[in-house]
Formats: sequence, C-alpha cells, structure tokens
Amino acid sequence: MLNRKRTKIVATISDKNCEPDFIRNLYEAGMDVVRINSAHLEIEGALRIIRNVRKVSDKIAILIDTKGPEIRTTDCDEPVNIQTGTVIRMAGDSGKKTTPEVIHVNLRSIADEVPVGSRVMIDDGEIVFRVIGKDRDRDMLILKSENMGLIGSRKSVNVPGVKIDLPSLTDKDRIFIQMAAANDIEFIAHSFVRRKQDVLDVQAEIDKYNSGIKIIAKIENQEGVENINDILDVVYGIMVARGDLAIEIPYEKIPTLQKMIISRCIYCRKPVIVATQMLHSMITNPRPTRAEVSDIASAVYSQTDALMLSGETAAGNYPVEAVRTMTKVALEVERNKEKLLETPFINVTGEISSYLAKVAVETSLRIGARGIIADTSGGRTIRDMASYRGFNLILAQCYTTRAMRELALSYGVYTSYQEPRDSIDQFIHIALSNLISEYDFRGDDKVVVLAGNFSGGNGFSFIEVGTVEYLNKRIGFLQDMN
Ligand code: PEP
Repeated sequence: MLNRKRTKIVATISDKNCEPDFIRNLYEAGMDVVRINSAHLEIEGALRIIRNVRKVSDKIAILIDTKGPEIRTTDCDEPVNIQTGTVIRMAGDSGKKTTPEVIHVNLRSIADEVPVGSRVMIDDGEIVFRVIGKDRDRDMLILKSENMGLIGSRKSVNVPGVKIDLPSLTDKDRIFIQMAAANDIEFIAHSFVRRKQDVLDVQAEIDKYNSGIKIIAKIENQEGVENINDILDVVYGIMVARGDLAIEIPYEKIPTLQKMIISRCIYCRKPVIVATQMLHSMITNPRPTRAEVSDIASAVYSQTDALMLSGETAAGNYPVEAVRTMTKVALEVERNKEKLLETPFINVTGEISSYLAKVAVETSLRIGARGIIADTSGGRTIRDMASYRGFNLILAQCYTTRAMRELALSYGVYTSYQEPRDSIDQFIHIALSNLISEYDFRGDDKVVVLAGNFSGGNGFSFIEVGTVEYLNKRIGFLQDMN
C-alpha cells in the first residue's frame, strides 16, 4: 500500500490483444484506466475489450476516445511509398481507398478548405507535403513531399494553421457514444476539442441516453489552447494530446503549454492526462530512453493526475514492462517532489467542506497519516482534496461502483465500496475494515477521517484523527454502551 503511486496510468488496449490475463497483468503493473481508441476498431472489438476489463476488476475505469473533427486517410491495400519530391494528389472521398496515385481522406471539402502553399502532415507529422496546386477538374489538391516515408491505412492528417470547419461529432462518434452509454462507460475523451461548443455538442449526445459519462477534452490544436478556460468551464477533464498538438503548434512550445494546462486544471479541480510518446521506444525495446524517463518525471513534477500510453500497450512488444516502467519512475519522483501543493483554496463544494478538505490534506501530512478516509457519492470533494497533491493517499469510500471507477483517474485516490450508512461511526467502522482487508492497514496506522454525507448530506462537516486501533476501540465502546 505504501508503495502505491499517486500518479495514475491510462493504457490504450487494442481488440487484438485484450484477454483478461493480459489486462490483469497491466492492472497489477499499475494501470488505472483502459483507453479504447475508436479510430482503430469497430463496436464489436470495443465491446470485447469492455467485457474483459469488467471481468478483471470493478475499479478499472474505461475511457473511449472518439475522433471528433479529425482528418484521416482512408484504408489502403498496401502502404503507399513516398520519396522526397513525390507529387501525389489528395481528395476527399471516404468511400475510396488510398492508392499510390491519390491519398483519399474523410473530409469531402479538403480541396476547397486547404490553400495552396499550406503544409499537409501525415501520420503524426512523419511525412510532410507542401500543397503546390489544385486539380480543379477533379476536386483534388496537388501535393509534393518534403521527405520520404510510408502512408498506411487511417493515418492522421494535419494542416497546421488552417482552420477547417468540421462538425464537432462524426456519425461514428455518435455510434460509439451510444454504445458507451449502454455499457456504463466512465469517460469519453473527445478529439480536437476547439471550443466550448464542441463539448456541449458531445454532452447533448450523452444526454440523449440519460448517461453519467464524463467528458475529457483532448486539446490538440491552437484553437483548443486559446479557448482552454472556456472549455474548462464545461468539461470534466483535459487530455494534453501531444501527438497532434506538436504538429499543429511548433513542438518547442509544447513543454510550456503542458505545464500551463496542468496548472489550470489543478486550479479548476479537473483531472488532467499527459499523453503520447511517453515511452515510444518501448514499442520495440525493453528499456526506455533517458529522455523518456525524464519526460515522465517532468510530467509528474508538474503534478499531472495521469500519464498515458498509446502504441506502447496497444501494439508494442513490451506492454507490461512499459506500465511497470511508468510506475517505477512515478513512484521515485513522488518520493522526492513537494508533498503538498499550494493550490489556491476555492469554494467547490461549499465554504466549510472545501476548507475542511484542505485541512484534511494538510493534517494528514503533518501527522504522518497513512491516508485520508472520506465518503463520496459524486467524487467532488475527493477531487478537491486531490488538487492539493498531498503525499498521503486519499482512501475514498464510494457509494457507487461508478464513482469508484471515475476516481481511478484522480491523483492519489484509491477507493473502496460501501453501502450508505446511518451514522458516521458505522461509516468509519466499515471504512477501517475495508482498509485492513484491501490495503493492509494495521492498528498503529494513523488516519484522518473526513465525512459528511450524513444527516441529510449537506456537505463535509466532520474531521477525526486517530490510529486505526483507537478509532475501532472508540466505535466498539460506543456500540457496547448502546
Ligand atoms: C494525441 O494526438 O496525442 C492523441 C492522444 O490522440 P490520437 O491518439 O487519437 O492521435
């Protein structure tokens, strides 16, 4: 238990490798959230992953990544070989395959929207083309490549600096959201969120099914960065999606933007994920590069809630090793970084309970408590506590398994389930037995208890501090008296 990392890990899983034993190995190595990337599979594959994740644990959250206003190449029979100086056409017809003559993409109006002189970058910027003209007769762009490479099926297409007017959601996104609602999925991470309205459109789709799915906005272009404050007003959390971000915006700006976005999220009490290429070399190598270790460390020092793995776990040769590597680096940095973050106090859940949340985190650090016990229905006070990035774990006692899974994304939070109780003492009693059986707590371990969803549940209003033994005795004594 003492060895649990506070920073959470999101691991992408493909339907080609999703057996329960594999998921269990990732979970035991430190994975907290499974990401399903809808760009690379169909509903059947996603359902297979969901079924298998639920078999392994009811504490693993599932995040479905919907593609939103994203441009991709269509399928091709063979990867298309591009040499430096190759001239090729690009057209918008999602029903046609990409060939060595024409790169087809899923945006019908591509030839109208992209001006001559623009750069078009394919496969996370691996291959760069310049638009040298337009073939008006056939509604196509004429591209000339600036480097060599291979274009495979469904590769990303970025046109930096050009605002393309795409709708917030595609038909495929709608189908995935419907499936997510029907399967009680925790998170939708929506790609290319540019402004508040994109989030509201996704929310309207979720609301059609009366679902509690939470939205994570993937920030991956200049517009998303510029509108971050408006987006934060309406979203549950943020993903710093560095794959596309570092193509849409000069890459040297990414570390500063990453830090800025993490700080904004902490201030707003919203979970934040740092994503893409954190251990890219481990797709083929058993050990990380020094730069990758430093990249993970830097995100942890910046106080992110979570780190994400993509190809490393979805298609790599060393998926379990990659999760283990992240866990080791996170643990080491957490031992050495500041043990309490001076985040400004804000009133998230009511003046008193927000204040007590801060006091609970500070007290647990001062007295060397093993953790903070707190009850929760929706998780807001727990996320408020998490924003102080305290060293001591937050042991949330959740009244629903959904709350338990949602909190899998939040810094330093570990969860147990308990039925709602009539009194605070009954709640503490069950919480302590959960901690003893699930997290190996012992009699002399100190805990801070923060509770309040009792007597009408009008906010957190109770703090108690003691050892497990003392609290159990006190409760037993009261029970004997009754
Ligand atoms: C990213 O761009 O960093 C990202 C996470 O999105 P995707 O994997 O869909 O490219």
